[in-house]
Amino acid sequence: MARYRDAKCRLCRREGQKLFLKGARCFTDKCAIERRNYPPGQHGLSRSKMTAFGVQLREKQKAKRIYGVLESQFRKYFQWAESQKGVTGENLLRLLELRLDNVVHRLGFAASRREGRLMVAHGHYQVNGRKVSVPSYIVRVGDTVQLRPTSKMQARVDDNLNAGRGQVPPWLELDPNEKKGIVRSLPLRDDIQIPVSEQLIVELYSK
Ligand code: SF4
Repeated sequence: MARYRDAKCRLCRREGQKLFLKGARCFTDKCAIERRNYPPGQHGLSRSKMTAFGVQLREKQKAKRIYGVLESQFRKYFQWAESQKGVTGENLLRLLELRLDNVVHRLGFAASRREGRLMVAHGHYQVNGRKVSVPSYIVRVGDTVQLRPTSKMQARVDDNLNAGRGQVPPWLELDPNEKKGIVRSLPLRDDIQIPVSEQLIVELYSK
C-alpha cells in the first residue's frame, strides 16, 4: 500500500498550522511550526495569494494529513459519506473519526494517530475480544477496544495514558486500568476538534 514517507513536519508547515502528527514532540519548542512557520521548499517564503480552489484543496489535504489517509481512500470515504443520510461533510469527518487507529489515539493509548496506526497494524489491539490489525477498521456504537493482555505495549500505553495530553471525547468511555475503551455513541461535529472546514471539502469534490 502506498504511504507517505517524507518528513511529517513538512505537512504541518505546508498547511501553516500544527496538525499534531508526531506526538510528544508537537508540544515542545522543537516543533517545526514554532521554528519555521512558512511552507517548505525553495519558494516557501514567496508564495502568492491562494485562489478559492486552492483554499478548498488545502482543507482537503489538511483532513487527509491529520488522519493519515491517502487520496484514493479519502475519496472512498467521501463517496461513503455522500451515500449516508445527513450532512455529507459531517458524515465524512465521522467516518474518519471512527477509524480504529484514531479511536486508539483518542482514548489516549497512542500519542499520535500514526502511533495508533502502527500499534493496530502490529496486532496489539482487539475489538470485542478479537484481534484486529486493520487501522482503517470502522468501529461501531457498543464496540469495545482494548489493548491485548499479552501485548508488549503495556508500558508504552501506560506512559501515553499518564501523559494524558488530550481529553477523551464524550462519545468514548475509557477504563485506564483495563486499557479498554467503549464506543458509547457516534461522534457529533462538536466532538471532533480538528481545524478543518468540511464544507470546503464537499465543495471541492462536488465540482
Ligand atoms: Fe507538526 Fe508535530 Fe512536526 Fe510540529 S512537531 S510540525 S505539530 S508534526
